[in-house]
Amino acid sequence: MSIETRLTEVKNKISETAKACGRNPDDIKLIAVTKTYPTSAMNEAIRLGVTDVGENKPQEVRDKFDDVLPVKWHLIGHLQTNKVKYVIDRCCMIHSVDSIKLMQEIERLAKAHNRHIDILIQVNISGEDTKSGISPDELDELLSYAGQLEFTHVKGLMTIAPKGDSEEVSVHFKNMKELFDKTSEKDYKNVSMEELSMGMSGDFQTAIKYGATMVRIGSLIFGPRNYN
Ligand SMILES: *Cc1c(COP(=O)(O)O)cnc(C)c1O
Repeated sequence: MSIETRLTEVKNKISETAKACGRNPDDIKLIAVTKTYPTSAMNEAIRLGVTDVGENKPQEVRDKFDDVLPVKWHLIGHLQTNKVKYVIDRCCMIHSVDSIKLMQEIERLAKAHNRHIDILIQVNISGEDTKSGISPDELDELLSYAGQLEFTHVKGLMTIAPKGDSEEVSVHFKNMKELFDKTSEKDYKNVSMEELSMGMSGDFQTAIKYGATMVRIGSLIFGPRNYN
């Protein structure tokens, strides 16, 4: 199947799912996750209308950037402070912020580049130890700290659901949405709860049902990944 066919199917599914739960399909942004795929595939997707791409590794953003048509880049994978330099002037949003130390380093480099950048706080909603992200009770500390930042703006939350059947996944997304709504009611400086990034190829329809505003989809668009 071609990227064109797959992309059309994914967009249709997003749209159908949104409508089925009474949401406006335009409120859900598709982030095409391009990790491990060649820049030729990325450019094909961009020519077909993809506006946002997501990469897992900062080095991959750096290495691919110059060969890819104009598009918005998102860093969605774990970010170490010493790798912020690879994404600071290339990405519009970092989804995987999970410490004050990382917020400080993003701010330091954003300021040095005189460039504003959006971030999401990654929450480990399931409590599974293999997943990165903060626990829900650390969220207040990070969001309070955002008030001290000038070039770095918190736009919402991100999560990755552990693999499981759709009932288990539903519980995590539901909890995440409750946390998102509860947080939205609070008045943190320099925080606006606009984006809830959750849902991948295997669970994006469930995520949409529970209020995702960004879905991160890779293999369903580009086919099976080759990690070598
Ligand atoms: C790889 C990845 C995705 C997309 O995964 P698919 O199953 O290929 O859709 C989404 N989010 C993150 C954080 C990822 O690393």
